[in-house]
Amino acid sequence: MKKTLIALLALVASAAVGAATPWQKVTQPIPGSAQSIGAFSNGCIVGAEALPLASTDYQVMRTDQRRYFGHPDLVLFIQRLSMQVKNLGLGTVLVGDMGMPAGGRFNSGHASHQSGLDVDIFLQLPQTRWTPAQLLKPQALDLVSRDGKRVVDSLWQPKIGSLIKLAAKDNDVTRIFVNPAIKLRLCEEAGADRDWLRKVRPWFAHRAHMHVRLRCPAGSLECEDQPLPPPGDGCGAELQSWFAPPVPGSTPPKKKTPPPLPASCQALLDEHVL
Ligand SMILES: [Zn+2]
Repeated sequence: MKKTLIALLALVASAAVGAATPWQKVTQPIPGSAQSIGAFSNGCIVGAEALPLASTDYQVMRTDQRRYFGHPDLVLFIQRLSMQVKNLGLGTVLVGDMGMPAGGRFNSGHASHQSGLDVDIFLQLPQTRWTPAQLLKPQALDLVSRDGKRVVDSLWQPKIGSLIKLAAKDNDVTRIFVNPAIKLRLCEEAGADRDWLRKVRPWFAHRAHMHVRLRCPAGSLECEDQPLPPPGDGCGAELQSWFAPPVPGSTPPKKKTPPPLPASCQALLDEHVL
Protein backbone atom coordinates (compact mmCIF):
# COMPACT_ATOMS: atom_id res chain seq x y z
CA MET A 1 0.00 0.00 0.00
CA LYS A 2 1.25 3.47 -0.86
CA LYS A 3 2.34 5.53 2.10
CA THR A 4 0.05 8.44 1.16
CA LEU A 5 -2.94 6.11 1.15
CA ILE A 6 -1.91 4.74 4.52
CA ALA A 7 -1.69 8.32 5.79
CA LEU A 8 -5.20 9.04 4.54
CA LEU A 9 -6.58 5.91 6.16
CA ALA A 10 -4.95 6.79 9.47
CA LEU A 11 -6.52 10.24 9.36
CA VAL A 12 -9.90 8.73 8.61
CA ALA A 13 -9.45 6.41 11.55
CA SER A 14 -8.46 9.18 13.94
CA ALA A 15 -11.33 11.36 12.74
CA ALA A 16 -13.87 8.72 13.70
CA VAL A 17 -13.95 9.84 17.32
CA GLY A 18 -16.90 10.83 19.41
CA ALA A 19 -20.37 9.37 19.40
CA ALA A 20 -21.02 6.38 21.61
CA THR A 21 -21.40 3.11 19.79
CA PRO A 22 -23.96 0.39 20.61
CA TRP A 23 -21.12 -2.00 21.41
CA GLN A 24 -20.32 -0.04 24.54
CA LYS A 25 -23.72 -1.08 25.94
CA VAL A 26 -22.71 -4.74 25.91
CA THR A 27 -21.28 -5.29 29.37
CA GLN A 28 -20.62 -9.04 29.31
CA PRO A 29 -19.31 -11.42 26.64
CA ILE A 30 -21.94 -13.00 24.38
CA PRO A 31 -22.23 -16.64 25.51
CA GLY A 32 -21.21 -19.28 23.00
CA SER A 33 -18.19 -21.01 21.57
CA ALA A 34 -15.51 -18.46 20.76
CA GLN A 35 -15.89 -16.89 17.32
CA SER A 36 -14.02 -13.87 16.00
CA ILE A 37 -16.26 -12.38 13.32
CA GLY A 38 -15.42 -9.97 10.51
CA ALA A 39 -12.37 -7.77 10.15
CA PHE A 40 -10.05 -6.31 12.77
CA SER A 41 -11.51 -2.87 11.94
CA ASN A 42 -15.12 -3.96 11.42
CA GLY A 43 -16.09 -6.97 13.47
CA CYS A 44 -17.20 -8.42 16.78
CA ILE A 45 -16.75 -11.53 18.92
CA VAL A 46 -18.91 -14.20 20.49
CA GLY A 47 -17.61 -16.11 23.50
CA ALA A 48 -14.89 -13.64 24.46
CA GLU A 49 -12.91 -14.24 27.65
CA ALA A 50 -11.75 -11.69 30.17
CA LEU A 51 -7.99 -11.63 30.68
CA PRO A 52 -7.53 -12.66 34.33
CA LEU A 53 -6.60 -9.46 36.15
CA ALA A 54 -4.48 -11.21 38.78
CA SER A 55 -1.14 -12.47 37.46
CA THR A 56 2.45 -12.57 38.65
CA ASP A 57 3.68 -12.20 35.06
CA TYR A 58 1.71 -9.19 33.75
CA GLN A 59 -0.35 -6.25 34.96
CA VAL A 60 -3.45 -4.84 33.28
CA MET A 61 -3.76 -1.08 32.85
CA ARG A 62 -6.93 1.06 32.93
CA THR A 63 -9.19 -1.76 34.07
CA ASP A 64 -11.90 0.88 34.65
CA GLN A 65 -12.29 0.99 30.86
CA ARG A 66 -13.17 -2.73 30.74
CA ARG A 67 -11.28 -3.29 27.52
CA TYR A 68 -9.63 -6.52 28.66
CA PHE A 69 -11.74 -8.98 26.66
CA GLY A 70 -10.68 -11.05 23.68
CA HIS A 71 -10.67 -14.39 21.94
CA PRO A 72 -9.29 -17.16 24.20
CA ASP A 73 -6.30 -17.36 21.82
CA LEU A 74 -5.48 -13.75 22.68
CA VAL A 75 -5.70 -14.43 26.41
CA LEU A 76 -3.40 -17.43 25.97
CA PHE A 77 -0.95 -15.39 23.89
CA ILE A 78 -0.69 -12.67 26.55
CA GLN A 79 -0.13 -15.27 29.25
CA ARG A 80 2.45 -17.12 27.12
CA LEU A 81 4.41 -13.98 26.24
CA SER A 82 4.35 -12.65 29.79
CA MET A 83 5.61 -15.93 31.20
CA GLN A 84 8.51 -15.98 28.72
CA VAL A 85 9.37 -12.39 29.61
CA LYS A 86 9.19 -13.14 33.32
CA ASN A 87 11.30 -16.29 33.01
CA LEU A 88 14.00 -14.32 31.20
CA GLY A 89 14.02 -11.82 34.08
CA LEU A 90 13.08 -8.94 31.79
CA GLY A 91 10.32 -7.52 34.01
CA THR A 92 6.53 -7.33 34.09
CA VAL A 93 4.46 -7.00 30.92
CA LEU A 94 2.03 -4.05 30.99
CA VAL A 95 -1.16 -4.88 29.11
CA GLY A 96 -3.25 -2.08 27.60
CA ASP A 97 -6.41 -2.26 25.55
CA MET A 98 -7.69 -5.53 24.14
CA GLY A 99 -11.37 -5.30 23.17
CA MET A 100 -14.81 -4.78 24.68
CA PRO A 101 -16.90 -7.77 25.88
CA ALA A 102 -18.52 -8.31 22.47
CA GLY A 103 -15.81 -6.51 20.51
CA GLY A 104 -17.10 -3.95 18.06
CA ARG A 105 -16.36 -0.32 17.41
CA PHE A 106 -15.04 2.03 20.10
CA ASN A 107 -16.20 5.62 20.43
CA SER A 108 -12.58 6.72 20.38
CA GLY A 109 -9.01 5.58 20.43
CA HIS A 110 -8.97 2.62 18.05
CA ALA A 111 -10.09 1.77 14.56
CA SER A 112 -9.31 -1.91 15.06
CA HIS A 113 -9.40 -4.05 18.25
CA GLN A 114 -12.92 -5.09 17.15
CA SER A 115 -12.75 -8.87 16.74
CA GLY A 116 -10.96 -9.90 19.92
CA LEU A 117 -7.56 -10.46 18.31
CA ASP A 118 -5.68 -7.19 19.01
CA VAL A 119 -3.82 -6.08 22.12
CA ASP A 120 -1.69 -3.04 22.99
CA ILE A 121 1.37 -3.73 25.12
CA PHE A 122 3.55 -1.00 26.65
CA LEU A 123 7.17 -0.81 25.53
CA GLN A 124 8.47 -0.77 29.08
CA LEU A 125 9.08 -3.68 31.43
CA PRO A 126 9.20 -2.51 35.03
CA GLN A 127 11.14 -4.66 37.48
CA THR A 128 8.93 -3.37 40.30
CA ARG A 129 5.21 -3.92 39.98
CA TRP A 130 3.09 -0.83 39.43
CA THR A 131 0.64 0.32 42.08
CA PRO A 132 -3.12 0.29 41.39
CA ALA A 133 -2.98 4.09 41.01
CA GLN A 134 -0.18 3.84 38.43
CA LEU A 135 -2.13 1.22 36.52
CA LEU A 136 -5.24 3.41 36.37
CA LYS A 137 -3.29 6.41 35.03
CA PRO A 138 -0.38 4.78 33.21
CA GLN A 139 2.59 6.93 32.26
CA ALA A 140 3.45 6.19 28.65
CA LEU A 141 7.17 6.31 27.86
CA ASP A 142 7.69 7.99 24.48
CA LEU A 143 10.70 6.23 22.98
CA VAL A 144 10.90 8.32 19.79
CA SER A 145 12.72 11.61 19.19
CA ARG A 146 10.64 14.70 18.43
CA ASP A 147 11.52 14.66 14.75
CA GLY A 148 10.29 11.08 14.61
CA LYS A 149 13.47 9.80 12.98
CA ARG A 150 15.17 7.92 15.83
CA VAL A 151 14.51 6.25 19.13
CA VAL A 152 15.92 8.16 22.09
CA ASP A 153 19.11 6.32 23.05
CA SER A 154 18.83 7.14 26.75
CA LEU A 155 15.34 5.56 26.87
CA TRP A 156 15.83 2.55 24.62
CA GLN A 157 16.67 -0.75 26.29
CA PRO A 158 17.70 -3.93 24.49
CA LYS A 159 15.09 -5.85 26.49
CA ILE A 160 12.37 -3.87 24.71
CA GLY A 161 13.75 -5.25 21.47
CA SER A 162 13.63 -8.71 23.06
CA LEU A 163 9.97 -8.19 24.05
CA ILE A 164 8.98 -7.28 20.48
CA LYS A 165 11.03 -10.17 19.06
CA LEU A 166 9.45 -12.70 21.44
CA ALA A 167 5.99 -11.52 20.40
CA ALA A 168 6.87 -11.61 16.70
CA LYS A 169 8.20 -15.16 16.97
CA ASP A 170 4.90 -16.39 18.42
CA ASN A 171 3.13 -18.57 15.85
CA ASP A 172 -0.27 -16.99 16.53
CA VAL A 173 0.98 -13.46 15.87
CA THR A 174 0.45 -12.13 12.36
CA ARG A 175 1.44 -8.45 12.70
CA ILE A 176 2.95 -6.06 15.21
CA PHE A 177 2.69 -2.29 14.71
CA VAL A 178 5.38 0.01 16.07
CA ASN A 179 6.58 3.51 15.22
CA PRO A 180 8.88 3.59 12.15
CA ALA A 181 11.78 4.80 14.32
CA ILE A 182 11.36 1.75 16.56
CA LYS A 183 11.28 -0.57 13.57
CA LEU A 184 14.47 1.09 12.33
CA ARG A 185 16.20 0.38 15.63
CA LEU A 186 15.08 -3.26 15.50
CA CYS A 187 16.42 -3.52 11.95
CA GLU A 188 19.79 -2.15 13.06
CA GLU A 189 20.10 -4.47 16.04
CA ALA A 190 18.69 -7.69 14.58
CA GLY A 191 21.87 -9.30 13.24
CA ALA A 192 21.47 -12.48 11.20
CA ASP A 193 18.18 -13.67 12.74
CA ARG A 194 15.75 -11.43 10.83
CA ASP A 195 12.73 -13.44 9.66
CA TRP A 196 10.60 -12.21 12.57
CA LEU A 197 11.07 -8.60 11.41
CA ARG A 198 8.63 -9.29 8.59
CA LYS A 199 5.76 -9.21 11.05
CA VAL A 200 6.86 -5.91 12.63
CA ARG A 201 5.19 -3.15 10.62
CA PRO A 202 5.83 0.60 10.80
CA TRP A 203 2.77 2.66 11.70
CA PHE A 204 1.82 6.12 12.89
CA ALA A 205 2.08 6.87 16.64
CA HIS A 206 2.89 3.64 18.54
CA ARG A 207 5.80 5.48 20.16
CA ALA A 208 5.24 3.96 23.61
CA HIS A 209 3.38 0.73 22.88
CA MET A 210 3.24 -2.06 20.35
CA HIS A 211 -0.01 -3.29 18.87
CA VAL A 212 -0.04 -7.07 18.48
CA ARG A 213 -2.51 -8.77 16.14
CA LEU A 214 -3.24 -12.50 15.99
CA ARG A 215 -4.21 -14.48 12.91
CA CYS A 216 -7.81 -15.65 12.62
CA PRO A 217 -8.35 -18.57 15.03
CA ALA A 218 -9.13 -22.02 13.68
CA GLY A 219 -12.91 -22.42 13.82
CA SER A 220 -13.68 -18.72 13.42
CA LEU A 221 -15.19 -19.23 9.98
CA GLU A 222 -16.38 -15.62 9.54
CA CYS A 223 -13.08 -14.07 10.61
CA GLU A 224 -11.29 -12.08 7.89
CA ASP A 225 -7.51 -12.27 7.91
CA GLN A 226 -5.32 -9.63 6.27
CA PRO A 227 -2.96 -10.59 3.47
CA LEU A 228 0.50 -11.54 4.74
CA PRO A 229 3.03 -8.71 4.93
CA PRO A 230 5.30 -8.54 1.87
CA PRO A 231 8.26 -10.96 1.96
CA GLY A 232 11.50 -9.78 3.51
CA ASP A 233 12.41 -7.99 6.72
CA GLY A 234 10.79 -4.69 5.66
CA CYS A 235 13.94 -2.77 6.58
CA GLY A 236 14.63 -1.27 3.15
CA ALA A 237 12.82 1.19 0.90
CA GLU A 238 9.42 0.68 2.52
CA LEU A 239 10.72 1.69 5.93
CA GLN A 240 12.70 4.60 4.50
CA SER A 241 9.54 5.95 2.84
CA TRP A 242 8.15 6.64 6.31
CA PHE A 243 10.94 9.14 6.95
CA ALA A 244 10.39 11.08 3.71
CA PRO A 245 8.78 14.53 3.98
CA PRO A 246 4.98 14.60 3.45
CA VAL A 247 3.68 15.26 -0.05
CA PRO A 248 2.88 19.01 -0.34
CA GLY A 249 -0.75 19.90 -0.97
CA SER A 250 -2.16 16.62 0.35
CA THR A 251 -5.41 17.43 2.11
CA PRO A 252 -6.99 15.52 4.95
CA PRO A 253 -9.91 13.34 3.81
CA LYS A 254 -13.47 13.94 4.92
CA LYS A 255 -14.81 11.88 7.78
CA LYS A 256 -15.90 8.53 6.46
CA THR A 257 -18.99 6.69 7.62
CA PRO A 258 -18.11 3.21 8.87
CA PRO A 259 -18.81 0.31 6.50
CA PRO A 260 -21.89 -1.85 7.21
CA LEU A 261 -21.38 -4.44 9.93
CA PRO A 262 -20.97 -8.11 9.06
CA ALA A 263 -24.46 -9.64 9.15
CA SER A 264 -23.63 -11.82 12.16
CA CYS A 265 -22.46 -8.80 14.16
CA GLN A 266 -25.59 -6.84 13.25
CA ALA A 267 -27.74 -9.81 14.31
CA LEU A 268 -25.89 -9.90 17.60
CA LEU A 269 -26.59 -6.22 18.20
CA ASP A 270 -30.23 -6.64 17.24
CA GLU A 271 -30.60 -9.43 19.78
CA HIS A 272 -28.60 -8.00 22.66
CA VAL A 273 -28.78 -4.22 22.42
CA LEU A 274 -31.41 -2.70 20.17
ZN1 LIG B 1 -3.78 -1.01 19.25
